Amino acid sequence: MMEPQTATAEGTTAESQNGSDADVRVLRNRVGAEWLDSEATEHVDDRDPATGELLARVPLSSAGDVDRAVAAARDAQAEWGATPPQRRARGIFALRNALLENHEDLARLVSKDMGKTLDDARGEVLRGIESTEAACGIPTLLKGENLEGVATSMDVEQWRQPVGVVAAITPFNFPAMIPLWFLPFALATGNTIVLKPSERDPLTSERIFELIESIDELPPGVANMVHGAYDAVNALLDHPDVDAISFVGQASTARYVVERAAPAGKRVQALGGAKNSMVVMPDANLDEAMPAMMASAFGNAGQRCLAGSVAVVVGDAERQSEVRQALVDAAGDVVVGPGDGDGVLCPPMVGPDARERVADAIARAIAAGAELLLDGRETRNDAGCLMGPTLIATAERDSELTREELFGPLLALVEAPDLDDALTFVNGSRYGNASSIFTTSGAAARQYRAECEAGMIGVNVGVPAPVAWFPFAGWKDSFLGDLHANGSDAVRFYTRSKVVTSRWV
Ligand code: NAD
Repeated sequence: MMEPQTATAEGTTAESQNGSDADVRVLRNRVGAEWLDSEATEHVDDRDPATGELLARVPLSSAGDVDRAVAAARDAQAEWGATPPQRRARGIFALRNALLENHEDLARLVSKDMGKTLDDARGEVLRGIESTEAACGIPTLLKGENLEGVATSMDVEQWRQPVGVVAAITPFNFPAMIPLWFLPFALATGNTIVLKPSERDPLTSERIFELIESIDELPPGVANMVHGAYDAVNALLDHPDVDAISFVGQASTARYVVERAAPAGKRVQALGGAKNSMVVMPDANLDEAMPAMMASAFGNAGQRCLAGSVAVVVGDAERQSEVRQALVDAAGDVVVGPGDGDGVLCPPMVGPDARERVADAIARAIAAGAELLLDGRETRNDAGCLMGPTLIATAERDSELTREELFGPLLALVEAPDLDDALTFVNGSRYGNASSIFTTSGAAARQYRAECEAGMIGVNVGVPAPVAWFPFAGWKDSFLGDLHANGSDAVRFYTRSKVVTSRWV
């Protein structure tokens, strides 16, 4: 984790600053009705993780750039907030149609810019489309409550009004879906938005903003975008005209964002990192569990807040070795390769720095006495981003391997004699994003569902992402704030409640 106030962004290179690769374009910010050059003096290289190809240069926008985008959002907000909700919904529905029409192109862009497999990218874009579809229901979702006749000639009703200008700050690992968790709901509820996408893979956001540009029902200024990293984030967090912050990223960044924005009176939802356990009960059907566990552990090279990064195997010694062997066999069969490769489940990581960080963590775990069951470190590509699945068994329950988010294709194995002990291990985590149990026992599933300290629970499925009609977020260090992303929570987060008491005699 880089230090918030002082660091420059990863990926900034002398080459990019010196201006070689001169024909590679520099991204522009979207401000009101215009695409504006940033006044940035530094840039980050955006590269294809499969080939290392330089795709674009991302300006590290300044506080001045942010100010222009926030001013455009502020100028547009009053009229947009006063637009009837069904007309706002029409704009969101037009966006949904544009996203659906461009589903394949967007997926290919996600895969190229971020590295994940094409299938995974298609699924991610579809999840973003579903959030957009959920936000289309806004006239129904915004309806308040009322109580007639609380006193003579007196009625009470609750309204929901927009918060104002929303800033969304998003991570690299879901460059389509996560901006789309926020933008449709924020606009549908009558807010305007400034998006700061991840500086590592902002091309999908750029494409989404090109689609927005062509939608008449979404007027200029309602949706704005500023490229950049820490300076842009800090400017958004400090800006007096930003009323709410939606953030997704590492737990330490989430805490930093909350501690900087909340004292200034901003509403904040900050979704952070995770260390998700998958519990395999003695009665679990391994043929069904293995594919789900492989997808959770090694899909997107483990770079998901919903990655299953610890397998907690419950049972006696015989069952332990049976499950261990099944995991080694299944992980050995995982296809590793570029995102557009046939049958690939485990694609390259986002950058060589990310791969190196995970390889170092594997070496530390082995040095600390953990048992290496499958080593993915020998697998690499020219861009230095590819790594195969690694399995490590450990008896040490509170180690970097079992407790820290390592964000790579790495699965730790922990043993537990029974479900109570498995729950003690799982609930000992400082994170509480999500968790899954595999079992054929209804009683075990019910106990897990009730007692597991996490915001999203799966039963006989890999670590699950709820559909957009439900709120999405975790507990503990995985989420700071009160109202989650998506579903009814999104409507409440992006609106202020007003209760009107009237007497008409
Ligand atoms: P990150 O925290 O490095 O970056 C997220 C955003 O914050 C980016 O836009 C970045 O520019 C900005 N940022 C980063 N460090 C900053 C700093 N010090 N000061 C100001 N701004 C800063 O996260 P990432 O590496 O891009 O994404 C991966 C992380 O996101 C993982 O920890 C993953 O678990 C988490 N994540 C969580 C969820 C969830 O729903 N809980 C979903 C997706 C990803």
